[in-house]
Amino acid sequence: AARTRDDLRCPIVVIMGHVDTGKTKLLDKIRKTNVQEGEAGGITQQIGATYFEKSTLVTQTARLNETEKFDLTLPGMLVIDTPGHESFTNLRSRGSSLCDVAILVVDLMHGLEQQTIESLHMLRNRGTPFVVALNKVDRCYSWKTCKDAPIREALKEQGDGTLQEFRSRASDAKLQLQEQGVNSNIYWEMGDDDWENSDFVPLVPTSAITGEGVQDILLLLCQIAQRKLWKQLMWCANLQATVLEVKAIDGLGMTVDVLVVNGYLREGDRAVFCTLDGPIVTEIRGLLTPPPSREMRIKSEYIHHKEVKGALGVKVIGNGLEKVMAGTSVLVVGPDDEVEDIKAEVMSDLTKLQDKLSTDKKGVMVQASTLGALEALLQFLREETKPPIPVSAIGIGTIHKRDVTKISIMNEKGCPEFATILAFDVPVEREAREQAEELNVRIFTADIIYHLFDQFTRFMEQLTE
Ligand code: GDP
Ligand code: MG
Repeated sequence: AARTRDDLRCPIVVIMGHVDTGKTKLLDKIRKTNVQEGEAGGITQQIGATYFEKSTLVTQTARLNETEKFDLTLPGMLVIDTPGHESFTNLRSRGSSLCDVAILVVDLMHGLEQQTIESLHMLRNRGTPFVVALNKVDRCYSWKTCKDAPIREALKEQGDGTLQEFRSRASDAKLQLQEQGVNSNIYWEMGDDDWENSDFVPLVPTSAITGEGVQDILLLLCQIAQRKLWKQLMWCANLQATVLEVKAIDGLGMTVDVLVVNGYLREGDRAVFCTLDGPIVTEIRGLLTPPPSREMRIKSEYIHHKEVKGALGVKVIGNGLEKVMAGTSVLVVGPDDEVEDIKAEVMSDLTKLQDKLSTDKKGVMVQASTLGALEALLQFLREETKPPIPVSAIGIGTIHKRDVTKISIMNEKGCPEFATILAFDVPVEREAREQAEELNVRIFTADIIYHLFDQFTRFMEQLTE
């Protein structure tokens, strides 16, 4: 069937931002509001994501939509479950962002913080549209709670002092965003030109505790999806999918959690996955999702599917999945496909990264938890550090002794400063640490990109002093 604007898939939404800004609470709030209104049926837990039915979106935004009168036609919305950097860096697909739209949460009381800035740059680099939630608005002095109300209604109820504080904090946030090269405005004060400008960012005051502004965020996401993203949201039968996580499950063995963005995945499909050792081809033996409601949930009891349709999160069972890399694409071999072509395509993300490594083979080693994280880190080292930090080797997952041995060659090549491993969100084997000690290799570990960069910069400064 032809792709049309009338047949869209669910947009995939990710919540990002600095620790403690309220990402988890906001997701909870979006879920719970609904449960309290007795609409629990409209929300389903999937693998790695929560699915909101269209009817749920309609009821949750009903009050705001009395004035907005927006014709919501999306089939629903998929919100990725694990807020934080780990989810975002996983959410990539063949070089582009896998999430369609993001909520960047800022603590209105603190303004922009480091991880927020990091998220901001990643979103910009990937061209992912986002809205900023100015969260914790209820902490403005003597805020009057207007539970779950549209934010403009809630602001009308506030006294002058409260409004003044809100105004001043919101304009501080706006300035800080400006300093990062991002133009923004309170969303209902944006002009038509601002809406036309795809780089302009709408700000939405919210409270993840009392719910003011949550309707606004939801409706805004639906509007952005339908008005600006409809082309990429058009449903099509071709599979577009990414590995979220690889994990062992009792009784099932090694499973791969997959986010199916578009297209179909079926039991019996010959799927092709990417591993550091090369591509693997395996038959899909099972497609599982969690049971429909928490109450019915019995340990490790999943619903089995013959076929699933994107966008959704699903657990895949099959043989030989142990070494599959998080953040890589999943493809299936179709009747007209050459297996070798599909294999090359699945590996292309990794080979493309390898092609970008330092050509004179002098540079540090970079190791990350997922392909997406690795990509983000390499991009950061290339574009955000002055001078750029050269990279000669890359890897994914735990750091082993052999990795240390490999990079120790830099000592012999006359560039001991590059006998260094930058490890992002990955464990380091004890033997690897010992080997590093012995061979004069430094291992810097962090789970925030900036921290890694800071450590390495400080080290380079010490060297040149
Ligand atoms: P995360 O680290 O971004 O996931 O942040 P959490 O959702 O865990 O929230 C961090 C802290 O801020 C918790 O103590 C929350 O109760 C609190 N918090 C989150 N959102 C709000 C809000 O809108 N208003 C207020 N007053 N507190 C909030
Ligand atoms: Mg959290």
